[in-house]
Amino acid sequence: MCTTCGCGHSGPHMHEVRDADGNITLTVHDHEHEHAHAHEHDHDHGHSHDHAHPAHSHDHDMPAGRAIAVEEDILARNDAIAAENRARLAASHVLALNLVSSPGSGKTELLTKTLRTLTDIPSAVIEGDQETTNDAARIRATGVRALQINTGKGCHLDAQMVKRAIEAIKPQENSILFIENVGNLVCPAEFDLGEAHKVAVLSVTEGEDKPLKYPDMFRASSLVLMNKIDLLPYVPFDADKAEANVLRVNPKAKVLRVSATTGEGIDKWCAWLKAQLVLASL
Ligand code: MG
Ligand code: ZN
Repeated sequence: MCTTCGCGHSGPHMHEVRDADGNITLTVHDHEHEHAHAHEHDHDHGHSHDHAHPAHSHDHDMPAGRAIAVEEDILARNDAIAAENRARLAASHVLALNLVSSPGSGKTELLTKTLRTLTDIPSAVIEGDQETTNDAARIRATGVRALQINTGKGCHLDAQMVKRAIEAIKPQENSILFIENVGNLVCPAEFDLGEAHKVAVLSVTEGEDKPLKYPDMFRASSLVLMNKIDLLPYVPFDADKAEANVLRVNPKAKVLRVSATTGEGIDKWCAWLKAQLVLASL
């Protein structure tokens, strides 16, 4: 687990801002110096503050044994909050999916295509990025509600951030909640958010050995979307080999080949989503 990404503390300070249209951005302040600067922002949006945790500093020279104990503690606390999220989502029959990938795999584009196709199913989106609200804006352009989380130094979403986001966005009953994680194939594998499934996106512009290099992520994912397959004629990517690599690290994974650009395979992905939503509403 990363100890430099801002997860080695008692919990993130989150700062909620609503713009004039009611769009919400949650900003995570992880480090002491950032926390100090947080008070210098222009506060004219009438947002609420939540500084529940005192400022702290990172100890980058922590002995290895202690670092492992701290990591275990962080993950245990995260798992407890994730279990609360899962129970809350199940009670309102919300299907939550945690979309994970490297940066640039086309997650947001795939989501906008999905939302434009699945117009008969109520959905909401939580967007995770270190900075900018660009991806939430792309989602909102489809007419679907989106909440942006800016993780700052953090390289993954955690259950506490998602808990706050769920409280703010209030997904409706029998809906799908898509959570687009920060583009990173490493620590998002370890942080349960309370989702029903992790869905990994692997694009054909990446190496087909990614599942072998980052097995934890592919092992944690129920479904792998092989994206940008419209580019297969132009890239050296061997789709069959990539699929075999996914199955080598996770024999239970389902692999679907899709293109957000041409729409190929989107019907199969949407059929999978609808089947999962039926299971969530039981
Ligand atoms: Mg994105
Ligand atoms: Zn991280």
